Amino acid sequence: MNCYICNASATLRQTTNDYEVIDCAACDRYKIAKLLISIMSGRKFDPDQMRKILNARRKKLTATQPEPFIETWDEDYLVK
Ligand SMILES: [Zn+2]
Repeated sequence: MNCYICNASATLRQTTNDYEVIDCAACDRYKIAKLLISIMSGRKFDPDQMRKILNARRKKLTATQPEPFIETWDEDYLVK
């Protein structure tokens, strides 16, 4: 598979009904909502901007939320 942020080759580490956990060499590990994936429809994130957002979220992780989460409302960051 390819990373949802930078399109590089990435590993799907976990998948559930609600989200996927992706390992990307460039973006590191993150979680992304399946609903967001379904509405991306070809639109892309700005990789530099999303990596900054993920790094900020990584500072607030907990044992129950071990990966930064790209949630459905992060659709606002998709480049039109
Ligand atoms: Zn990536």
